[in-house]
Amino acid sequence: MSILTLNCGSSSLKYSVFDTVQGTFICRGLVERIGDRGSRLTQHYAQNETCLERDCPDHSAAVQLVLGVLTEDHDSPLADMNSIKAVGHRVVHGGEKFARSAKVTQELIRAVEQVAELAPLHNPPNLAGIRAAQELLPDIEHVAVFDTAFHQSMPPEAYIYPLPYEWYEKYGIRRYGFHGTSHLYVSTRAASLLGRAVEDLKIVTLHVGNGASAAAVSHGKSIDTSMGFTPLEGLVMGTRCGWIDPAIVLYVMEREKLDSNSMDRLLNKKSGVLGISGQFTDRRDILKGAHNGDRRCQLAIEIESRSLKKTIGSYAAAMGGLDCVVFTAGVGENSALIRAKALEDLSFLGIQLDTELNEQACGGQREELITTPASPVKVAVIPTNEELVIAEDTQAILQGSFCNQDRFRYSFE
Ligand code: ADP
Repeated sequence: MSILTLNCGSSSLKYSVFDTVQGTFICRGLVERIGDRGSRLTQHYAQNETCLERDCPDHSAAVQLVLGVLTEDHDSPLADMNSIKAVGHRVVHGGEKFARSAKVTQELIRAVEQVAELAPLHNPPNLAGIRAAQELLPDIEHVAVFDTAFHQSMPPEAYIYPLPYEWYEKYGIRRYGFHGTSHLYVSTRAASLLGRAVEDLKIVTLHVGNGASAAAVSHGKSIDTSMGFTPLEGLVMGTRCGWIDPAIVLYVMEREKLDSNSMDRLLNKKSGVLGISGQFTDRRDILKGAHNGDRRCQLAIEIESRSLKKTIGSYAAAMGGLDCVVFTAGVGENSALIRAKALEDLSFLGIQLDTELNEQACGGQREELITTPASPVKVAVIPTNEELVIAEDTQAILQGSFCNQDRFRYSFE
């Protein structure tokens, strides 16, 4: 049985096909520049890379293109459309309504439309993908998998901001948190790597990519997370500022006569390590710059690592203990230096880093511990796999066997 996963962004569509019998992904692909001239599909299947340039004026055209490439040729990944038994859709914002993945129904679509205001860049393309796929594959089940769902277990003291309470009631202003599928996946895999039940552990998960967020996962549940009402809050990111004094925003807007759109752009696109370094978003460039003596690249690394370290400490405090820290995503999986700096001087918490193991754990698909065998608190590097969460949730819902506790007990890849 094959499950198609779709992750629609404003101008892109990432997809994969998961074979539930083999427990592996058959192929993965990406359509870029949707709605623009020169849309381009790239697909990896077996050892082959397929590249196609075909105008896709909207998401419907992109989904149609994907289905064609998946099924039409004799050497395509799937025999025909009937091979697809269900579609799992990534939906960024589920608001307060969805604490788990769910079948797509008219009611679900209405609920996702209602929270679209909270995620104007993400939910509309997610919905466009759902509608297009439903139209082209009307007879199979479609499932929505929400980035926010895993964090719905947070208690009010974690998600209510110290702001006028009416803003929560009137506008839904609260911490929602994002990257939920990733935090769920890596925390569950970390437990498996330790040979323990996730329900017995207190874990800090650090998803550090271009966007970055942390979660305090206590007994398998997210009890706090760093991204908030939007993905702008929290850790230092590639181009997003994360935690700052909100008074700065008002001060600069007034001084530089900026409107809210310009300020939004500065905070989301021109801040973070790009803002500090003045040059780079990509941490590989930052690390190279720092190595070559660029003071601001060095500062960017210090500030980013410090924000990770402070978050580990505060989440350990919030959980009343710590068993494991997990690093994942582009930077978390690849940068031994940023991991080492984030963990520096944390032996008082029980973290004893094995510097050699840390240096060795750089990329690849392996799940590894980078602490000494005697370290009371373990640190793991775990490649994230958000598509697997989408595919597994879709399969589970299809079979009516959805159960949080039973997921990712073993790795599929
Ligand atoms: P996103 O999905 O948010 O775009 P990713 O998880 O793909 O992000 O991570 C992208 C980030 O990972 C980039 O800033 C990139 O520089 C960083 N990265 C990738 N490889 C390395 C590496 N070897 N060392 C340091 N950073 C890396």
